[in-house]
Amino acid sequence: MNTDEAAASPTDGVRLLPGAVLGVVGGGQLGRYFVLEARRLGYDTWVLDPDAAAPAMQIAAHSLVAAYDDPDALGRLGAVCDAVTIEFENVPATSLERLSELTRVAPGAAAVRLAQDRRLEKTRAAALGLAPVRWAAVTSASEIDSALERVTLPAILKTATLGYDGKGQRRCDSAADVRAAFEALGGRACVLEQRIELEAELSVVLARGFDGAVRTFPAARNVHRNGILHTSSVPSGLPDALTGRAVEQTCTLAAGLDYVGVLGVEFFVDGAGSLWFNEMAPRPHNSGHYTLDATVSSQFEQQLRALCALPLASTELLSPVTMLNVLGDSLLGEGPDWDRLFGDPDLRLHLYGKGESRAGRKMGHVNCLGTPEGAAERRAAEASGALAGRGGDSSPP
Ligand code: ADP
Ligand code: MG
Repeated sequence: MNTDEAAASPTDGVRLLPGAVLGVVGGGQLGRYFVLEARRLGYDTWVLDPDAAAPAMQIAAHSLVAAYDDPDALGRLGAVCDAVTIEFENVPATSLERLSELTRVAPGAAAVRLAQDRRLEKTRAAALGLAPVRWAAVTSASEIDSALERVTLPAILKTATLGYDGKGQRRCDSAADVRAAFEALGGRACVLEQRIELEAELSVVLARGFDGAVRTFPAARNVHRNGILHTSSVPSGLPDALTGRAVEQTCTLAAGLDYVGVLGVEFFVDGAGSLWFNEMAPRPHNSGHYTLDATVSSQFEQQLRALCALPLASTELLSPVTMLNVLGDSLLGEGPDWDRLFGDPDLRLHLYGKGESRAGRKMGHVNCLGTPEGAAERRAAEASGALAGRGGDSSPP
């Protein structure tokens, strides 16, 4: 028996059919899409988030406005829901443990705890045969010299916990940079990572059920700007042997963790064509948003099916697609060129209902479908221009 999911209850494999009550901890856009799928399929929905106006709270049938570790709110959620999932990885693992005493929870607290700490995540991935880039823990300034013996420059220093969208990381070209970065990051526990020349980035999203059944979505090729995902394209255009290995390694990780739910894994490819493990997300992934419009089922439907112990749906790709993130930058000032955004009938615009636009904040995304009239990447470049406003240039993805 795998100790990670030792808290699993014997009723976990029991199917939860439409009409059952599903809960999500976290009210962001990922929770919003989970709720939309649940509502489409006739389930009742609860969302727990401290912000009453959060994207998923706006549309949940029932919202609980409270901190993620509020004992009363957790007690209520656990009592009313037949099953609970999460939409972001920084839900306290102790909250999931509490919930799992009351109801079905997937993914389990142990997998979520792993994904919360880059040190644990890399160690576990390596133990399962995946290849994290060379790294060393830095928990105090006195460890920097020994870390630099293991990791050669250039490097990246990242906080071990709570980083997202490139936040909590600094590029370092010298030992002095590492020291300054450690201080700038508040002296918190960090990992120092070898900085590799990225030939490409890719990600794999899969769903795994209580019965161990797995369905993988096609690998996406990802382009980041300023540490934030910019576009995801499928098919990736990368060699099948490479994407095949990424898919296989994602399956190995999921099986090794006895994982239940949707899992996203990010990989790097270097100039020599080697595949490196970057990080895992115990939830649907931004790079999987293309599945909302370009595959038979979406990653959110799979999340629901896995949670409810239903058979997983088809992940077949129906159309080539490039997903383009919409950041707050495009909605500030005069805003995007709406005529161009709505003018292309093969662009599918999604906005998350976030009240305040801020630079770098994820506000929505556009799924640009490839058709005989125009390739997905070209449409995404045009949409990117339209997001930049009237007269915005079409920039390559
Ligand atoms: P986050 O949790 O913010 O997504 P990541 O570790 O995925 O943090 O880093 C964000 C992006 O920064 C990556 O997608 C990649 O573009 C770049 N990056 C991170 N680590 C490395 C590395 N070791 N070498 C080269 N680029 C990196
Ligand atoms: Mg990342």
